[in-house]
Amino acid sequence: MIKDISNLQAKLQALVLSQQGLHAQGQVADYIPALAEICPKKIGVSIATIDGNTIGAGDYKIPFSIQSISKIFGLVMAMNRIGDDLWQRVNMEPSGQPFNSIIQLEWEKGIPRNPVINAGALLIADVLTSRFSSSKLAFLSFMRTLANDETIYIDKHVYESELNHGNRNAALAYLMKSFGNIEAEIPELLSHYFTQCSVAMNCEQLANSLLFLANKGVDPKTKKVICSARDAHRINAILSTSGMYDQSGEFAFSVGLPAKSGVGGGVIAIVPNYGVICSWSPPLNKFGNSVIGTNLVSNIAQELGLSIYH
Ligand code: GLN
Repeated sequence: MIKDISNLQAKLQALVLSQQGLHAQGQVADYIPALAEICPKKIGVSIATIDGNTIGAGDYKIPFSIQSISKIFGLVMAMNRIGDDLWQRVNMEPSGQPFNSIIQLEWEKGIPRNPVINAGALLIADVLTSRFSSSKLAFLSFMRTLANDETIYIDKHVYESELNHGNRNAALAYLMKSFGNIEAEIPELLSHYFTQCSVAMNCEQLANSLLFLANKGVDPKTKKVICSARDAHRINAILSTSGMYDQSGEFAFSVGLPAKSGVGGGVIAIVPNYGVICSWSPPLNKFGNSVIGTNLVSNIAQELGLSIYH
């Protein structure tokens, strides 16, 4: 494994160039209209290591909507707040269904398959809404602390757009409430969920904010414990089996890193004891994962020999 990333800059640039023109292989998410306004040709990538180096190429300093990547941070907050009780209300199995599927939730009596599909993240949003006096502020301040950057913001335009087109998420939340698995009022819970999805961050900020998952729960920059080593292990396990939705098996097969995508086009991959890769390109494949973002992570992992299965 290459420890010193300073000489990788040129390689990252070449990788970004190699992907230009491939954006037509995917489609920008348009079920949230504000996301369809983003230029599909943007491509960014960043690598941050636990020994304090960060490099990037392309549009790696342009903020984008983190969308489902926010599910990781919400999960950390909920695990820290209610501990193992959480696992009575949400499972840790792959779903084998699209990220916003509703059908399984009915069969399984309102218990989501895992915390990184929409149903699971809405359940987490319920925990946060019910257990924090101001969960949205708590979420934003958690992100700012992790990225060590007070400029991180909520994109109000994306938030409004999600709120106005959030019927499927509302349906998932109401279905879970009908099974008694939701405490909060649904509008409040949805407002939290859409807020966390609307946080805007760039590749560099995201890669840095997730270093604790590559470092047994400890932020290597500040030495602060963000979560226990056991919970970092558990989150990485869930990301390995479910983070790329219904493409998680193929991603484990071909890449072999805990990863998470968002419909804003971001992809993050955790390399335990090494660092974090974050890529961004808006066009998505049929699973809702960024086509180019997935290619970039895959190429970097291959180039550097990074896999948890070696
Ligand atoms: N906000 C999006 C939704 O709820 C997040 C989905 C995603 O990024 N996969 O549909």
